Amino acid sequence: MVTHAGGCHCGRVRFAVTAPARAQVSDCNCSICSKSGFLHLIVPKARFKLLSGAHSLTTYTFNTGTAQHLFCCVCGVKSFYVPRSYPDGYSVNARCLDEGTLTELTVVPFDGKNWEGQFAQGAGGPQER
Ligand SMILES: [Zn+2]
Repeated sequence: MVTHAGGCHCGRVRFAVTAPARAQVSDCNCSICSKSGFLHLIVPKARFKLLSGAHSLTTYTFNTGTAQHLFCCVCGVKSFYVPRSYPDGYSVNARCLDEGTLTELTVVPFDGKNWEGQFAQGAGGPQER
């Protein structure tokens, strides 16, 4: 486990997240992730710390409204958010992590487009969206 730092494009939103140096992330094909290219690194809330930018975050919701899609109101980048699959944690965009602390990135496809078929309860485990 190492501490990865990251944030949005303009630098207002900054965070630190504790996760393996060799991280496994998922590439989701749902309606929003496929448009943004979000690579999900899912962590419990205790392993995420927002360092700055709380006042620059805007929330977008759709469909069930469970996921809280947080993005920077200045540069528009969604560097992390509260996922539907794991509302007690955060999904960090691996593309928004600073260089230097990730030694390996394994990308696993996730079929978020067919969510209801995968999760009868409407939520999955920490490994999924
Ligand atoms: Zn920004």
